[in-house]
Amino acid sequence: MSANELTPGGLSPLVSPPARSQLRLAACLSALLIGALLVAAPYARQPTVNTEALLPAYASAVLVIELLTSALLMALFSVHRSRPILLLAVGYLFSGIMAVPWALTFPGVFDEPVLGDALQSTASIAAIRRLGFPLFVIGYAVLSDRKFPPGSARRIILLSVSGVLTIVSLLTWVIVSNDDALPKFMIDARNVSGLWRFVPATAIGLYLIGLILLGLRRRSMLDIWLMVVLFTLMIEIMLISYISGAIRLSVGWWAGRFYGLASASLVLLVLLSEATTVHARLALSVLAERRARQNRLTAMEALSASIAHEVNQPLASMVTNASAGLRWLERDQPRIDEAKAALGRIVSEGHRASKVVTGIRTMFLKGAQEREPLNLNDLIETVLAQCETEARLGRITVSTALANDLPHVVGNPLQLQQVITNLVDNAIDAMRGIPDPRQMRVTTQCHEFGEVLVMIADNGAGLAAIDKDRIFDPFYTTKPDGMGMGLMFCRTAIEAHGGRLWASDNTPHGAVFQFTLPAALTKPNDAELVR
Ligand code: ADP
Repeated sequence: MSANELTPGGLSPLVSPPARSQLRLAACLSALLIGALLVAAPYARQPTVNTEALLPAYASAVLVIELLTSALLMALFSVHRSRPILLLAVGYLFSGIMAVPWALTFPGVFDEPVLGDALQSTASIAAIRRLGFPLFVIGYAVLSDRKFPPGSARRIILLSVSGVLTIVSLLTWVIVSNDDALPKFMIDARNVSGLWRFVPATAIGLYLIGLILLGLRRRSMLDIWLMVVLFTLMIEIMLISYISGAIRLSVGWWAGRFYGLASASLVLLVLLSEATTVHARLALSVLAERRARQNRLTAMEALSASIAHEVNQPLASMVTNASAGLRWLERDQPRIDEAKAALGRIVSEGHRASKVVTGIRTMFLKGAQEREPLNLNDLIETVLAQCETEARLGRITVSTALANDLPHVVGNPLQLQQVITNLVDNAIDAMRGIPDPRQMRVTTQCHEFGEVLVMIADNGAGLAAIDKDRIFDPFYTTKPDGMGMGLMFCRTAIEAHGGRLWASDNTPHGAVFQFTLPAALTKPNDAELVR
């Protein structure tokens, strides 16, 4: 199964239209962020002491989170091959990697500046990173959903990653080595100049454009979460550049960084929960598929084995009769009457074989079942009449307790009659060779929950000596000439009719087979309409 098949619409949940619950969650989160902003605002301008040490940790967290987000977006791209998703992945990669030179050039973080003494470089890198990311989001919002051709994803991802790495390295090198020529955003290590105000203003403008474009588009859940990201980034820049008085490392500045982390984590969290959901669904559907295949296999094996078994008997008889017929004809004085009789038996055995095949098909093909309202008492009477001779020969006393007011059931008469025949045959078999009296009792009664209950009890060999749990499995048999198909058929048929079939011990010995079927909801006459 491909990820494209995961939802009814053929899309993974993240790129499918936004769900109401997600919209609500996004709105709640935005409200929470505004609340946190109001709490932090009064303390925003207070400076903090020696918090430079936290900067590398902050930058590492941003790097890891944004790299992971980018990797997951690339994975999503490799499935959907969508251009906008690739652009967004590149945007996250760019933003994450740019956090490295930003931290390395930050004044006061390292005793020996790793990338040289560069007062303006940090601000320039921050400006490029800050203005770059919303541009990628805007690109994501306006790019058409045209897909890349299949098979090209890997190469495109490799090219994109190496492209971003090259651009960031070049940018860093140009910026750091030309610190004097850079715009003078900083007066000193902590305070910005008047020139800086253009950066947050432009960033806010870009965030707003992104928000409007995504809001107009709102094609997917990802769009909604990107709107929350832009909103969070807007709060971040307001805290860092306005509310904190643009004083580096102040309470407001750090609060802004916290918002930055929150916004970086948002899409990652959504992507991770998406990946978990998709994985769980895949695992479940693989399991279901495996189970279905196993069931199909078992049913197929059962079907072919039973066809072989049931058809073999008439075939063997046909061969015997054909040989006998030939012998009658090959005599010096051919016995036409005997040959005719043999041919007659071949014809009737042929009909029997064909009936067997039809019967087996009726057992298995659910769609081919014709259902009609029927009285189980009548079916039982028919079966017992058919088995009368066999029961008499086995010296079995058959008694019945059939409920007079038994509701009708809606079912396939052929299948249900076959079920009762199998159960009665089994009971007769189980009483072979046990001392007299041999008794079989068939009972019908109304059962709980509007069901009809049928019980076939015998005082035969019982189930104690055999594997009770396996008697309904295909091929389980304790009889020398048994196929172990009968009870499997019975259970399949009864369950296909919405009922249950089970076995228990009889007292003092023997077995009881019981099945329930749902009673028809309509009266017998009206029930004709159920068909
Ligand atoms: P088969 O009759 O070909 O053996 P079934 O599926 O009908 O196949 O039965 C499976 C096994 O269940 C039988 O071989 C027998 O051991 C056991 N069984 C079925 N009915 C009874 C019964 N009434 N009493 C004791 N054992 C039974």
